[in-house]
Order: sequence, then structure tokens, then C-alpha cells
Amino acid sequence: MDYSKLLVEDIHSVTMATINNEGKPITRIIDLMLYDEEGIYFLTARGKSFYKELMDQEYISLTGLKGKVSFSLSGKVKNIGSHKLDEIFLKNTYMQSIYPEDTRKALDVFCLYEASGEYFDISDPAHIKRAPITINSKEHGTYYTITDRCIHCGKCETICPQRCIHNEVIDVSQCLHCGACLEICPVQAIEFKGVKKRRKEDVCLMNMCMIEDDKGHVLVQNKINDSYTGITFPGGHVEKEEIFKDAMIREVNEETGLTIKNPYLCGLYHWYKHSIHNIILVYKASEYEGFLHSSDEGDVYWIDKEDFLNQPLATGMEYVWDIVHKQHQECIMSNMGEHKRGDLF
Ligand code: SF4
Ligand code: SF4
Repeated sequence: MDYSKLLVEDIHSVTMATINNEGKPITRIIDLMLYDEEGIYFLTARGKSFYKELMDQEYISLTGLKGKVSFSLSGKVKNIGSHKLDEIFLKNTYMQSIYPEDTRKALDVFCLYEASGEYFDISDPAHIKRAPITINSKEHGTYYTITDRCIHCGKCETICPQRCIHNEVIDVSQCLHCGACLEICPVQAIEFKGVKKRRKEDVCLMNMCMIEDDKGHVLVQNKINDSYTGITFPGGHVEKEEIFKDAMIREVNEETGLTIKNPYLCGLYHWYKHSIHNIILVYKASEYEGFLHSSDEGDVYWIDKEDFLNQPLATGMEYVWDIVHKQHQECIMSNMGEHKRGDLF
């Protein structure tokens, strides 16, 4: 089957996904205009946010539907400017009404030149069909397979809703990807192959600084009006593209009125929440100047160092204390139901 021809000529309008400027998925209906051995072509106007997303990410996912058959592809796109623009307008004459005369100059053409995905047919629900599809890509999608750890118990064959396991071999062309076989296998002999490990993640960078004087005191902040309350050290968020050290000096100044010098990076305190990796860079400083004042974030004041661990501490501050005293350099927090636990490294 010529999937490119089918996508461009039969389906033509597909749902295409990118990531918007808030880091969230966004879809649009996009017409696929042309195809050749290089890839599949579509276009958009340079003024659209879709254009900016394509230029930034150079990657899309699309799904086209024809009856009960779907075609999905994910892959790399590149801007080829006005190359093929006239050919697209000749072949797709309705475009001449949307962009009459030379207003087409506002458009750039993109080529989906390396992609992989699958064809999925549920026309006969009891016997689904699926097959990998690619454009200039060596990837062959995801699939379930039985490894040589199999002890021949037969449980997977019995539970498979599509009856597509025979003699401990999965017919991948009929597999639903439901995962029931993997869950029931008593010896973890079934593997889901082809899933790439994600190397990028969303990160929120913050900082915190223990400031000490030469009389055995540390400066604390009693955090209020925040989801994070209790005794802590001053700190806040690192701004986009900000140098970490400058961010620490700025945050201390905003929250205490003091200007610290030479903050020393002691370690990292981090946790995951809502798919975001939150990382606090933990510093200490003993050189400072200026006059102490509190901010909306909470009162700041000096206490004896020995009393710190007896204070009503904000969550995890005992681990931060450990880090600033060089016992460990990293703490990862995890939720244990109501309780939070830190593991130190
Ligand atoms: S994933 Fe589901 S459909 Fe596929 S082989 Fe396993 S049980 Fe059958
Ligand atoms: S459930 Fe696991 S051990 Fe049993 S037949 Fe299937 S793959 Fe083999």
C-alpha cells in the first residue's frame, strides 16, 4: 500500500500535533498537499503560531482517518521555503481562493521527511490489523514480543482478546497493544519493544541560601502565604537564561535586603511533581552587606545555628541542612502517601 499517496490524495486533511509555547500539546487540521520520494508536503503562513512551533521543534505527529482505518506518523519536518509552492497551488486549486494572486507569498512549505508510525484497521473489530509505516526512517514502531524467559504456561494465549498469540509467538499485525499478556505473564517474559527513553524533561529551577554570620547565627525565613510554609532559607526561582549565581544573589536581595557575595553551591535538592522536575540549587554564604528587611514571602531573622533543627521547619529543610553542612550533595524527595521522604546521596 502506498501510504503517502493515501494520506495526501484520499485523506488529505489530517490532525497534526505540535507543542505550544506553554509546553502543552496542541492539534490542528492540516491539509497534506503533495508527496514524493523525499516526503510529504504541507504549508502554513509565517504569521501563525503553528509556523513558530514547526520552526522551533522541527517535529510533528499526525493522524489521518478513513472510515475505521487510521494512519499515524511522527517525525521530522523542515522548512523548504517557497520551493514547491506553485506546484502545490496547481494541484490544490482551492488554495488559490484562500490565498489569491501573490498573497501566497505569506506561506512557507514544510516537508515531513523522516517519520515512522502505523496503520491501524478496526473495520473487523474481532480481527484488527496493524502495520508499521515509515518515511525514510529505519524505526519500525512499537510491538510486544515473547522472550526466551517463557515457561510455556499458556496464560498469555488465553487472555489475549485478539487471539493473536500462537505457540508463544505474537502476531504483531493483529496485536491491540492492550498489554494484558505482559501483565499476566508470571515470569516477565513479555516485553514492549521500540519505546524510546525520553531524554528531555520539563524542569523548574529554584535556589535557596543559608547565610551565616560570624557569631554562630543563620538567617531564616518564616515562609507564609505559600503552598510551602515554615522555617526555611531565603530563595526563589531562577529566571529564564539567568546565571545561577546571579539568581541566588538577586533572590536573597529581594527577600532580605542583603547583598551576598561569593555564594557557594553546596548541592541539589529535588523532586518530581505533575511531570515537572523541580530542582533547588542549595547555596551558603558568609559574606554580605546591607540592611535586613522582610518581604511578602515571610519574615526574615537571625537565630542560633544550634536551634535550627528545633524550629517548625518547612518540608525537607532537615535535608537541606544536611547538604549545606557537606554531609551529602543531593537529596531527592518522594511522596509516601501523606509523608514525604528524602533520600540523600
Ligand atoms: S498486547 Fe494484548 S492483543 Fe497484543 S498480544 Fe498481548 S494480549 Fe494480545
Ligand atoms: S504468560 Fe509468559 S510464561 Fe506463560 S506462555 Fe505467555 S510468555 Fe510464556
